[in-house]
Formats: sequence, C-alpha cells, structure tokens
Amino acid sequence: MALLSWLSRLRSCSCSSSKCLFNLRSSSYSQSFCRTQLNAPTVNGYGFHSQSQQTKTSFFSWSSSMLPLALAVSAGSLALQPLSSPSLCDASNIEAQGVSFGGKDSTEYVVKGSHKEVPEELIEELKAICQDDLTLDYDERYIHGKPQNSFHKAVNIPDVVVFPRSEEEVSEIVKICDKHKVPIVPYGGATSIEGHTLSPNGGVCIDMSLMKRIKALHVEDMDVIVEPGIGWMELNEYLEPYGLFFPLDPGPGATIGGMCATRCSGSLAVRYGTMRDNVINLKVVLANGDIVKTASRARKSAAGYDLTRLVIGSEGTLGVITEVTLRLQKIPQHSVVAMCNFPSIKDAADVAIATMLSGIQVSRVELMDEVQVRAINNANGKNLPETPTLLFEFIGTEASSREQTLIVQKIVSEHNGSDFVFAEDPEAKKELWKIRKEALWACFAMEPNFEAMITDVCVPLSHLAELISKSKQKLDASPLVCMVIAHAGDGNFHTVILFDPDQEEQRKEAERLNHFMVHTALAMEGTCTGEHGVGTGKMKYLEQELGVENLKTMKRIKAVLDPNNIMNPGKLIPPHVCF
Ligand SMILES: Cc1cc2nc3c(=O)[nH]c(=O)nc-3n(C[C@H](O)[C@H](O)[C@H](O)COP(=O)(O)OP(=O)(O)OC[C@H]3O[C@@H](n4cnc5c(N)ncnc54)[C@H](O)[C@@H]3O)c2cc1C
Repeated sequence: MALLSWLSRLRSCSCSSSKCLFNLRSSSYSQSFCRTQLNAPTVNGYGFHSQSQQTKTSFFSWSSSMLPLALAVSAGSLALQPLSSPSLCDASNIEAQGVSFGGKDSTEYVVKGSHKEVPEELIEELKAICQDDLTLDYDERYIHGKPQNSFHKAVNIPDVVVFPRSEEEVSEIVKICDKHKVPIVPYGGATSIEGHTLSPNGGVCIDMSLMKRIKALHVEDMDVIVEPGIGWMELNEYLEPYGLFFPLDPGPGATIGGMCATRCSGSLAVRYGTMRDNVINLKVVLANGDIVKTASRARKSAAGYDLTRLVIGSEGTLGVITEVTLRLQKIPQHSVVAMCNFPSIKDAADVAIATMLSGIQVSRVELMDEVQVRAINNANGKNLPETPTLLFEFIGTEASSREQTLIVQKIVSEHNGSDFVFAEDPEAKKELWKIRKEALWACFAMEPNFEAMITDVCVPLSHLAELISKSKQKLDASPLVCMVIAHAGDGNFHTVILFDPDQEEQRKEAERLNHFMVHTALAMEGTCTGEHGVGTGKMKYLEQELGVENLKTMKRIKAVLDPNNIMNPGKLIPPHVCF
C-alpha cells in the first residue's frame, strides 16, 4: 500500500496543472507586457534516484546502536538531572557501539545500527490496532527505509510499516512501541534530503499518508485545521476556490506534518516566513502516548512556553504530529514574474541583495547558475540562456506589481543584467515556478545513475554574494558536476553536487565541497541548514554552529519527553553530546 501511495503522490505532484511549458525570450516591458509562448507538454521522467541494493534484514529484528543503554534506564531517572544516565549519551564507547556516525568531524554517510529482535507480541498488538493498514512486506519496508531524494543510507530498514487513520491509533501505536522500547520513525512525503526518514535502528515506521483530512476551514479567520498527511499542493488545490493559499512550497509531495517537523520554507519564505511563522497550533502524540495541544487558535498568544515552536523542526524526535492549524494568505490580486540573466553569479547575487535593500517586498527571488539552467533545459526541452539567472515574483495590485517590476528592471540594468523578461499570464507563471520547483529533479536527470549531495547553507544577506562567489570558484574547479540554486532573498543557497556512488573518490570530493561551503557559511555567522534540516547529514556541524551547551539543552529536553529514546533515534542531536 505504501509503495502505491508513494507512486501516486509522485504522479499527482508531477502532472497536475502542467499542461504547457513556458518559453520566455523577450524584453521590452512597455511594448508588450506579457510575452509568453505556450508549448506542448514535455514534462518527462525526472530520473528518480537509482537505489543501491541493500541486504535484506530479518522482519523481526531491530537495531540497538544506542538502545542497549536506553534500556538500562528508567524514564523517571533521566528528568533534567546532570548526566548519570547513559541512555541518551555515552561518549566513552561510542565507536564500540557503532554510533560514530554524525559525530563531530564525521565523514561517514552510512548510518550504523545493530539488531535486536522485534517482539512477536508487538507485531500482534500493532495488527490489532491497524488491521490491514500494516505491512511486513520487504519492498514496502525497503522503500520506507531508503530516502527517495538523498544519498544517505542506513544499515537497516524498518521492521514494520503502519498506516494509522486517526490520532487515537497513533497514540496507541506509540504507547505500545514505548512499552516494548522499539524505535519509531514518523514518515510523511519522504521528500526530505538529509536522511531524516532512515531507520538505522529498524523498528516501526509510522506512515501518515492515510491521515490527510481537512478538519475545518475558517475563511474569516484565514486558518485551516488539517491532518498531517495532507500535501501542501493538495491543500492549495482545496483552498483556491476560497481565494486563499498556504505559502510554503518545499518539495512537491511534501506533507504538512513533514513540513512542520523539518521547519521547512521554500521560495515564498522571503515574503511569508518559514513554517515557524505559519503554524498556529499543533496536536502531538508524545513518546508515552499522551496527546498534547500546543496552543489555541488565536493568532498570537503569550501563554507560557512556546511548545508549538519546540515541535516545529524537531524532525520526529519529540513526538508524532497528528493535527496542524495553519495560517493562510489571500491569493494576491495580481502578480508579475520576471527573469533576467547576468555575466557572473556575483552580479546576480548583488541584484538580489540590492532588491531587498530597496524595500520592495518581493514574494520570490530565486537564483540559478548556468549549470542549473542547462540541467533545466536538458530535462524539460527548454532553450533558456545558460548564464546565471534570477527569477522574481512581484505581487500586489496590478499597478503596484508593475511598478515593482520596473524598479527591479532598473536595478538589474545597473548590475550588468540583461534579457529582462516578464510574464502575467497565469498558466505561464505557474509553469515557470513549476520548472524551478522541479529543478532538483532536473539535476538528477543530468546523471541518472549518480547520487546528489545537496548543501543548504544560509548566511546574513550581506554575505550572500561573497559566499556564493567563493563557493562557485571551488565548484568550477572541481571535476564533479555542481549546480547552484538559491532562495537569494533569504541568504539561503543550495548546491547540488552529482557523484558516482561507486567511486569513493567522487563521494569524498563531494564531501570536501560540501564541508567547504558549510564552514565558509559558519565563518560568516551563518547556518549549516537554512531549511532542509539536520537529519543524519548535518549533525556533525551542529556543535560548531550552536555550541555544546545548546546541544546539551536539546538533549535534556529530548530525555524528558522521550526517556526511552524511541522517537526517531540517531537523528538531529549528535551522538557525542553528553549532559
Ligand atoms: C525537489 C525538492 C525540492 C525541495 N525544495 C525545498 C524547499 O524549497 N524548501 C525546503 O525547506 N525544503 C525543500 N525540500 C525538502 C523537503 O521537501 C522538506 O524537508 C519537507 O518539509 C519534507 O516534508 P515530507 O512530508 O516529505 O517529510 P518526510 O521526508 O517524510 O520527513 C521529514 C522528517 O519529518 C518527520 N515527520 C514526518 N511526518 C511527521 C509527523 N506527522 N510528525 C512528526 N514528525 C514527522 C520525519 O520523521 C522526518 O524526520 C525539497 C525536496 C525536494 C525533493
């Protein structure tokens, strides 16, 4: 069932509303405001990642990389005490336990784990709750254990996948797992790219795809209450007739639950903020099965600790999100999409910064280097100029969005920009953003048998041009194919580095480039991840970015809420951190 649901999710996000592609080659704003040419559909196979083979594991076994320690400790003894319990940390024999992965300076990417029998009793209890919505099928478990969009791997896959239909079922499932001290990995659209959904310890994967109801829409309050399994694209299709939309747009196929858990953003974050700013309330099943409501439906509140924001970005390590109240936005009256080219990536980044400083409230400003544009041309049969490119969206009234366009056109011309084109036709604009949104798959299609290492650094805006220029020099000097793509208005940029997984030297070279960009961003007071999150891939950078006291505090919180360390263990908090 999961495989089918996964494929249908991909189908629905790659086909909807893409009846045509967009060809922009025009400039004069005044002569003809909208110059778009609509062609026949050419959206093709996106060269989904090849999956490397993994050894089959026994159905009834789960790993215990850190868990033998966890089993030794009772829940109560951990609560906010100085470290005496090793359940969540024992740095002394980390190597021997096989949990070196993700520690400071780690260069490993296969997440380790060892096995422990999954009790038959647990499976029987899960069957009693989930009935047919449970699978032990190897292919289903394999799909759930291997991220679809990242090179990260784990030595194990889930032992069982369950598909709850209600909050009560989730609570029962979690309670049983806690009783048997079996790991849980919540699972949304599986579009995350830092190994978030790996099951290094086997255990139970909770696939939320059957919990996708829209529970209440409050048009006058501009909010909606949904179950976590609904995708942001499906939600926006539902909201469109009401003149409303939800402004976060991560990977096509991402679910609202996964988006909360990763604190995602996307191209519109420059205008509307990230998931942190757009969630009003959550309901969460904690590790002991308790169901917690984090806030009211009021737009703002000063009532106590902000548990909503504690859970947002917790990547399934603190609980399973079962209900989300989202803040909505009015669909803008009018919008203009503009595109322009530059001789160098620094010129393009400088324009993004100058535009933000001009005070114009762009709703999107996206940067692509020439290699990324080539990938898009190849994947979509396009003929865009293969130079550093900026894409803008301006919203407001017809007059105000045109005025913003003209101001930015002037800024572009002052920074060596050329080929300034723009569109107002709704289908053409949608298609243009769809191409941008699927840029990552266009990268994969360049080398279908390769893997992609994706950086996601973010710096204060004034450092963006310098960071991108430095990075681009390194990338261009590398033998690997590397693409740059940025949410430039936020100071957030990604590189996609393609490497042959069978060539260890190539993987190391990709790792070297990745390290360079992360360390350069950190030296500029930036972050190792602006939006993709930590998963297993970014754990090794957290101490440098946040400091050990910060990580100890995270670990204390985790220990209190999840004393048996069952919630997505081995993720987010580096294993070497002790308190
Ligand atoms: C083509 C492409 C483009 C992308 N563009 C962007 C972008 O612009 N911006 C951006 O921020 N990201 C982007 N991403 C990354 C990805 O889409 C986001 O991280 C997204 O938020 C993940 O959501 P998901 O439903 O796929 O979560 P999953 O991958 O299923 O899970 C992610 C994490 O959330 C946890 N989780 C899932 N559901 C729940 C739940 N109900 N309760 C608790 N924990 C849960 C999982 O355990 C895991 O740790 C992109 C990815 C792709 C493939």
